[in-house]
Amino acid sequence: MSDAPLLADFRPPANAILGFADLLLNTPLTPEQRDYLETIRACAQEILRKSEPAPAVPAPAPEEKPPGAPLRILVVEDNQVNQRLLLALLDRYSQGKHVDVAHHGGEALEHLRRASFDLIFMDVQMPVMDGFECTRRIRQGEGGPGHLAIPIIAVTAGAMRGDREKCLEAGMDDYISKPISSASLKTILDQVERGRQG
Ligand code: MN
Repeated sequence: MSDAPLLADFRPPANAILGFADLLLNTPLTPEQRDYLETIRACAQEILRKSEPAPAVPAPAPEEKPPGAPLRILVVEDNQVNQRLLLALLDRYSQGKHVDVAHHGGEALEHLRRASFDLIFMDVQMPVMDGFECTRRIRQGEGGPGHLAIPIIAVTAGAMRGDREKCLEAGMDDYISKPISSASLKTILDQVERGRQG
């Protein structure tokens, strides 16, 4: 423990002495007077140095995603009907969720570079950039370093054989098929919430 708290009361007089000594040192003085003043000045300085308040402990950096913050979801889907269905389902479980919509992979990458998300629902067939390509690019970092490992859930039409493999190969984490059941959606959301807390 330092002397700082004990010496704190001496800071104002030490400051005054220092100022006064500095003032006098700028006037014509005998060598003896100068010596004397310099000693006083050094003492005052020493008190100030020893009574320096401890540097404030820096406040912990705010967590990027404090637990309990609303889940930020990006829905990537070109078909408006499917968009609305998914949004309506998401709304059922909305506890302050934040949902953005992109109409194709290129738009999704733009969203990811602009803001931070926790989860992506990714349609597969889309114009401009499909879900496979978009996922590969996110995993390569094109959606920003914060999204390299973001959970990506493929939303596939029907049960095309090999779809699941292709999705996982592209870097998606899981898949649900259309029409989306609220149960499968809830399972995904719960998993992501748990992943965020753990
Ligand atoms: Mn589509």
